[in-house]
Amino acid sequence: MTDRDASPLMQVQAKIARAASNAGRSADDVALVAVSKTKPVEAITPLIEAGQRRFGENRVQEAQSKWPALKDAHRDIELHLIGPLQTNKVKEAVALFDVIETVDRPKLARKLADEIAKVGTAPRLFVQVNTGEEDQKAGIAPKDLPGFVDYCRKDCGLTIEGLMCIPPVDEESALHFALLANLARDAGVPLLSMGMSADYETAVRHGATHVRVGTALFGARA
Ligand SMILES: *Cc1c(COP(=O)(O)O)cnc(C)c1O
Repeated sequence: MTDRDASPLMQVQAKIARAASNAGRSADDVALVAVSKTKPVEAITPLIEAGQRRFGENRVQEAQSKWPALKDAHRDIELHLIGPLQTNKVKEAVALFDVIETVDRPKLARKLADEIAKVGTAPRLFVQVNTGEEDQKAGIAPKDLPGFVDYCRKDCGLTIEGLMCIPPVDEESALHFALLANLARDAGVPLLSMGMSADYETAVRHGATHVRVGTALFGARA
């Protein structure tokens, strides 16, 4: 079977494997997060049936309407929050998500720590970095990252497993991926969530351990 005949899922998996191999990495070291925001359960189920287990959603409320039943039916699903988290939604987010990729300010880190202490289970946490220092985008500025990771670890007792970024649309994403990889190495953070439909192969070349792919799997969003 050629790539062209394969399902979108198989095509993306094959491209990840090829990019990893070209970079001297193992495809097993790159996790595909299927971004299902705005897509209904009927669009998600075929991917679950094909074996996909990691999914990403942008909004807590939308995820609450789609995922509790799916997670009950498939206990090994890993759900990632990849959109901004309001502090008044922390309780719901900690209850539903396995990974929160968008820790982006001290007040949120503190709230997460309090909720985690209260319920006794913790989602895995990534810090979002605003690598392009764009005003309209969430995330910690690169220069503030070391101090913020320190605050999460020492003051809040949180484990930060990864960094995440969304590069500016009009810039070479490779530069942002390289920057994120450097920041992660300097901060002693092992995982890197970077790369979307347009640039996930580039991200794999730069060390992504998680790529977040929506359009290439589900088609364009309305
Ligand atoms: C929507 C979204 C994606 C997926 O983007 P595509 O271009 O559809 O692959 C990845 N990451 C974040 C944070 C998103 O909001």
